[in-house]
Amino acid sequence: MKELINEINQFRDDRGWGGNHDARSLAISISLEASELLECFQWQSAEDSIAKDKQAIIDEMADVYIYLLQFSDVLGEDLVHAAREKMKKNAIKYPINVTT
Ligand SMILES: [Mg+2]
Repeated sequence: MKELINEINQFRDDRGWGGNHDARSLAISISLEASELLECFQWQSAEDSIAKDKQAIIDEMADVYIYLLQFSDVLGEDLVHAAREKMKKNAIKYPINVTT
């Protein structure tokens, strides 16, 4: 994970983009890339969208992930750890409905 973050940061720094990548800008970018992912599904079923251009969907998914990794790095928080902690909260908030 850290190796990938370092590669992403190197890519950013090689292009002089570091100054634009604060938490606010990254949060905006996550939302914009998520919208680009949604656009892949506009006006058609999920099945048709994937059949038409699965690579475009994968590329947009990766864009979201890249910005999420950068966001976690700026915050100094591990994304996997944060996801696991949130899943614990979700388990409490949404308990398994056991009927007896
Ligand atoms: Mg994109």
